[in-house]
Amino acid sequence: MTYPQLTMLIAGEAVGAAGRRSHAVVNPATGASLGELPLADAADLDRALAAAAAGFRRWRDTPAAKRAQVLLGAAALLRERQEDIARNATLEQGKPIAETRLEVVSAINLFTFYAAECQRVYGRQLTRPAGLRSIVTHEPVGPVAAFAPWNFPIINPARKLGAPIAAGCSVILKSAEETPASALALVQALHDAGLPGDVAQAVFGVPDEVSRHLLASPVIRKLSFTGSTVVGKHLMKLAAEDCKRTTMELGGHGPVLVFADTDLDRALDSLVANKYRNAGQVCVSPTRFLVEDSIFGRFRDGFVERARAITVGDGLAAGTRMGPMANPRRPEAMDRLIGGARDAGARLLTGGQRVGNQGFFYTPSVLGEVPIETAIMNEEPFGPVAILNPMAGEAEMVAEANRLPYGLAAYAWTADGARQRRLAREIEAGMVSLNGAGVASPDSPFGGVKWSGHGHEDGPEGLMACLVTKAVHEA
Ligand code: NAD
Repeated sequence: MTYPQLTMLIAGEAVGAAGRRSHAVVNPATGASLGELPLADAADLDRALAAAAAGFRRWRDTPAAKRAQVLLGAAALLRERQEDIARNATLEQGKPIAETRLEVVSAINLFTFYAAECQRVYGRQLTRPAGLRSIVTHEPVGPVAAFAPWNFPIINPARKLGAPIAAGCSVILKSAEETPASALALVQALHDAGLPGDVAQAVFGVPDEVSRHLLASPVIRKLSFTGSTVVGKHLMKLAAEDCKRTTMELGGHGPVLVFADTDLDRALDSLVANKYRNAGQVCVSPTRFLVEDSIFGRFRDGFVERARAITVGDGLAAGTRMGPMANPRRPEAMDRLIGGARDAGARLLTGGQRVGNQGFFYTPSVLGEVPIETAIMNEEPFGPVAILNPMAGEAEMVAEANRLPYGLAAYAWTADGARQRRLAREIEAGMVSLNGAGVASPDSPFGGVKWSGHGHEDGPEGLMACLVTKAVHEA
């Protein structure tokens, strides 16, 4: 199968580029154009809003068992279509196909989880005198405007769709213009499984135009955004004008605390694989490695050796462990952040260069002893660069972990059980991984604190974020 013809999906219809502005979708491994993506104009967005309002009125009254059936049907279709979806996602985003195949599996697991979870939204009844009652119920919040980024082209939009649809909401999804085919495949699977075309719609456009238009409409009752903190703050202000509910998954700067008592080889194998997954373009990527002085040299050497062994290449080629960066903005950011760190006295231990003369490839990079005032120590690098800094001990490591306004994922490697519990409490983050890499699964809440956002996706929390609570009192 070839890369698909790109459309929007508005009110159940495929809307093409004819008569509209369009955007060239590019393969980041080659720089070659994959196709033209239609961009919504104001009339398209108004049509989507009217459809979302109508779709919501019917879908909220659709029994949970029927909503579950649709989600399970879509999960089955994703399983059948896994290879095509994964291939197209790799073509438009760049990561190795083994990673996009796993993304399809994650989307299947998420839809399956919410199919079950939406049938367990319980209210409660309070008994009053004289046979009267008060009833507490949870109702879907309403039409959702959802914005998903390009770094996880399949699982990001799946998160934007799964919980709201399970809850009885309608969704207008604007996934990233870099990775439209993946988002369209998800919405199409839902439609093919019986979801009405006005309950899930896919639009693309100039991001600021689309978000301003949708968030200005009273039809939209919730904003769900994944992306950078700076854009997230801007969208929160727009949502505040109409007091819309928000779920914000924003940036991170993952601290990793590595103690001398840990199994160093196990830690390094896990951490290096996790660091360079998706070329570091991961909001929960481990970034600041804070390593106890006594093992710093061994940790640094083991890290650099493993980073140098990573095969960089086209995500569709056998043996590729790291693909290109997703767009030309990322290698530019790497050059700026790594250059700034070197100018300030940091040691470049490996990498720090672009690779080849086509596409957006960058070498797996490691910086050592990076001064705290550099941009890379304060800004989310979102790329294949690790920062290794020696630290005196636990108190200093915790202080550095909590220094930044970000609080998404944090990692700690230590064999000491009491210290594990202390760190889990002291580190300011939405997710803490002890002696491992995993921070996401469909049944557990995914989200951050401080500038990393608020609210959750995944887990029962992700469903509750799509519901409002009502108390009905009989008198
Ligand atoms: P960006 O901040 O311009 O865009 C990030 C995402 O937000 C994209 O998907 C984009 O389409 C969307 N976006 C941008 N402006 C928007 C607006 N006004 N309304 C609605 N959506 C909007 O930057 P970028 O160059 O694409 O990515 C750079 C930075 O974004 C990275 O350094 C990283 O910090 C952050 N990012 C975070 C995540 C995440 O998972 N949290 C994912 C992708 C990018």
